Amino acid sequence: ESGKKNISLIVVGHVDAGKSTLMGRLLYDIGELSEKEKTANERGSKKIGKGSFAFAWGLDALGDERDRGVTIDIATTHFTTPHRNYTLLDAPGHRDFIPAMISGAAQADVALMVVDGSPGEFEAGFERGGQTREHAWLVRSLGVKEIIVGINKMDLVSWSQDRYEEIVEALKPFLLSAGFASAKTTFMPLAAMEGINILENDVEELKEWYNGPTLISALDKVEVPPRPYESPLRIPVSNVFKGQTAIASGVAVSGRLCSGVVQVGDRLRAVPGDEVATVRTIEVDEDSSPYAVSGQNVTLYLSGIDSINLSIGTILCPTSLPVPLVSKFTTQILVFDLQSPIIIGTSVELFHHSVNLPATVSRLVNVLEKGQVTKKNPRVLQKGMTATIEITLRSTSNNNARIPIETSQQNKEMGRVLIRRNGETIAAGEYYLYLRSSIR
Ligand code: GDP
Repeated sequence: ESGKKNISLIVVGHVDAGKSTLMGRLLYDIGELSEKEKTANERGSKKIGKGSFAFAWGLDALGDERDRGVTIDIATTHFTTPHRNYTLLDAPGHRDFIPAMISGAAQADVALMVVDGSPGEFEAGFERGGQTREHAWLVRSLGVKEIIVGINKMDLVSWSQDRYEEIVEALKPFLLSAGFASAKTTFMPLAAMEGINILENDVEELKEWYNGPTLISALDKVEVPPRPYESPLRIPVSNVFKGQTAIASGVAVSGRLCSGVVQVGDRLRAVPGDEVATVRTIEVDEDSSPYAVSGQNVTLYLSGIDSINLSIGTILCPTSLPVPLVSKFTTQILVFDLQSPIIIGTSVELFHHSVNLPATVSRLVNVLEKGQVTKKNPRVLQKGMTATIEITLRSTSNNNARIPIETSQQNKEMGRVLIRRNGETIAAGEYYLYLRSSIR
């Protein structure tokens, strides 16, 4: 029903925490999977040595994309709760989950973090090397403000309240330090495989001490973040394909509106480049629509443009207000866990929406504490620091080392970047034209 609010969800957590099982089970319990799909999924799951439901989500999402023959960047699945329309971003099974997660999280409104509650397993996922911390940092740095934490496999700890509270007490201070306000953090016990506390909690041992929300009721209450309708349209492209559906055909792109509004007939500039395309058809949640607004995931069928002028990472903008291209910029960063410090000349990979480009840390401008500059021109940056640095893109054979990016003052979602090195995320940042300390 159209009055429902649209929300995008990303599911994160350490490998084997039960993410696919949980989402497969949720889709089944709310009737988004047929009995036939369920049987096929059970068979598929057995084949890959996983419990029932584990296969459902990945299979479902990938099947859809496979049929269209597209470059997979982010797969999406739709489901509805009584008051919300959900877009579930991404599919599991990526070998290196993080880059896919980065593009997914940049589009998400809320994160569902799944942790394994069974003995020793929560600890393994939370220590160094485990993915729990990095995922939480990542999603928060990419602008996700609300998090639901499912403490899964409660059946394996006999529904123990002590174990549940032990995990909640370990996670609470960490999530707070990662930037999730306690009012935006919800914890709940789950048993994904048996479907406990997804739609309802019908286990006596659990009912004795837990009367908080089920997963569905928590999802149904997620606040819809303010959507910047007034800002100029920005659609970072996450897929390009030759579309052929019941609704339309031709060159098609999908992505999420970071800001603004798009209507059928609009002429859009594809940045980088000078090409202009006309919007023929807009699909929102697989239905045709005359327009789409900030926050919605769309597929656009375009005319007047060749698909070679579009790629993952292209930003579609109004012809009159294109996003600028920059090769060098200053960014205020938060430094994550590091193997070795950041110094001038450090080679990094810069992630911005769905693109990643080689870059170099060309200046260390300052270190800040609580918004105040405490040191100018530092020589090294260490874990936990907030700092201003300058990033310079490096030219490669297939790009001219410029990135479509806006300052965070102009457009929050367009100003966010992530910095990785050797497959690890080392910092998250926001692009500021004027250094924060000089604004005051
Ligand atoms: P993912 O890597 O996070 O997607 O994890 P999976 O969904 O593949 O689950 C990992 C393993 O944990 C599988 O063997 C599941 O059957 C199992 N599992 C998931 N949820 C539960 C649960 O609630 N209870 C128990 N006992 N096992 C579960």
